[in-house]
Amino acid sequence: MDKQQLFSGIFCPYCGNETIFVDSAQVYHGKSYGMIYLCRPCQAWVGVHRGTNQALGRLANAELRRWKQKAHACFDPLWKRKMEKGFTKKEARKAGYRWLSIEMNLPFEETHIGMFDVEQCQKVVELCTPYLNRLLLN
Ligand SMILES: [Zn+2]
Repeated sequence: MDKQQLFSGIFCPYCGNETIFVDSAQVYHGKSYGMIYLCRPCQAWVGVHRGTNQALGRLANAELRRWKQKAHACFDPLWKRKMEKGFTKKEARKAGYRWLSIEMNLPFEETHIGMFDVEQCQKVVELCTPYLNRLLLN
């Protein structure tokens, strides 16, 4: 599966089958957060940009969802710190992802936790932990 297919949401990267385009209420116990591409057998899904059929990243199964949460928990406090210095949320997040793209040796447009696999999420945790620890000590 190439990147274009992976980020289209149309195919499941775990089993290779086509996904279905359904309301997220199907996986969030009746609460809707917009539409998703879903592979029911793999319990893997990805959300879309509001009002479009454009996937936000790659399909994630339960294991990847856990790692994405961990990656966000380590990464988000770092760029949010910049907001205390007068940056907007958008600017601060962009600066954070720019740093991450350099550290991970990825093109900026492919640097988003929603696009990462388990290994890349683990790398985010590894990269951010020393800074996070420093932040917590201050
Ligand atoms: Zn699947």
